[in-house]
Amino acid sequence: MQQGTPEGREEPGQRLWQRLPPNPLAELRQVAEERERAGQALLRLEIGEPSFRTPPHITAAALASLQEEPQTYGPSCGWPWLRELLTEKIRRINGYEVSPANIGVTVGGTGAVQLALLATVGEGDEVLLPNPGWPHYYRQLAIAGARPVPYPLDPASGWLPDLRELERRVSTRTRLLIVNSPGNPTGAVFPREMVTALLDFARRHRLLLLSDECYDELVFEGEHISPATLLTPAEREREGFIAIYSFSKTYAMTGWRIGYLVASQTLMRSLSQVLDASYTSLPLATQRAAAAALRGPQDCVAQMRAAYRQRRDRAVALLKRYGRYEYTPHGAFYILVKTSSQPDGGRHSNKSGSTLSNAFALELLRRRNVLVVPGSLFGPQTVDYVRVSLGAEEETIEQGLSAICELCEEEEHVPGVGETREHSKELE
Ligand code: PMP
Repeated sequence: MQQGTPEGREEPGQRLWQRLPPNPLAELRQVAEERERAGQALLRLEIGEPSFRTPPHITAAALASLQEEPQTYGPSCGWPWLRELLTEKIRRINGYEVSPANIGVTVGGTGAVQLALLATVGEGDEVLLPNPGWPHYYRQLAIAGARPVPYPLDPASGWLPDLRELERRVSTRTRLLIVNSPGNPTGAVFPREMVTALLDFARRHRLLLLSDECYDELVFEGEHISPATLLTPAEREREGFIAIYSFSKTYAMTGWRIGYLVASQTLMRSLSQVLDASYTSLPLATQRAAAAALRGPQDCVAQMRAAYRQRRDRAVALLKRYGRYEYTPHGAFYILVKTSSQPDGGRHSNKSGSTLSNAFALELLRRRNVLVVPGSLFGPQTVDYVRVSLGAEEETIEQGLSAICELCEEEEHVPGVGETREHSKELE
């Protein structure tokens, strides 16, 4: 990368650019697009996107709004009628009581996490985040200026956090703990004891807890435990708490860009300011659609969940047939597949600038026309994995997974395939 202008000045945006972690998916997508332009049909298993259309009653509510009412600015935290409905959803699905004053409607869960970070952390602060974890956490922290401190999730326990590892990473600068269950990219659902232990840990170190629950309604076994249910309202207020939710996955509304956060009233004072300054308010028609999703029949949610579960079952069965089964995701719609049998997972470095999973994903795309996300994108813990989205159609998943397993078998017989390097320092 260029180090400043010829006059020695900093390039515009250079400071942030240097803090951002590498994005191996961008290069893969470029190759994928070239192949598609050349007429190749790809199996796309990379994006966390439901294969379903938004249920028609939801779309109809947005259309009616566009036709029948003026599309004006609105309250920065969302219209009161939507926030009222959200309090009912929190009670019904998440099992705790909040008032509309605890809720802010946001541009997806993505917008909610970004606002939460901007309102609570900055230069000099450290934030604990899951490794592997949703890559946006790393990038959003770079934007907020805080330092990411990844804590490992353990594949041996089905990708749960290890409290000893968390303890080892706390410092006097640690401000916030991000937890994500059901998790992306693992699909792990934290049991009650784990959620309790994480809350105790946060309390002991006086950390603010950010609980990303965007997949709260996509649980196949066990139950989703919202950390807030284990806190009294007074504790939530005193200790600081932010929960993140989304319409994207539950109602197949990824492109509508609507989510929300729930926070203590003290925190809402700052959050609402950041919300207001960032984008004033969300489109009214989108909020009408969200309200229709909450008010309308919920069997669409159950049907989509059943389909994801069936895809998960088929994926697990296929991996077992190929002898590559490692764990069963109990929620969300992803599965991590180990692509290397090297004991160190290829964590040694070389000069090629690619990790084992990047090289594998590129090979898979070039030779099999299958696009997946290299595990390196989620953190150093998964450099020898790829993530497969179960949001795709069943047949696409089966064909794609078979191609992955076959390529793994081929590569295991070719020494030296899959060059590696250390993950970015930022992610360690
Ligand atoms: N959190 C996690 C863990 C996610 O995987 C995603 C989407 N991939 C989000 C938050 C945000 O999703 P959205 O902005 O579409 O609500």
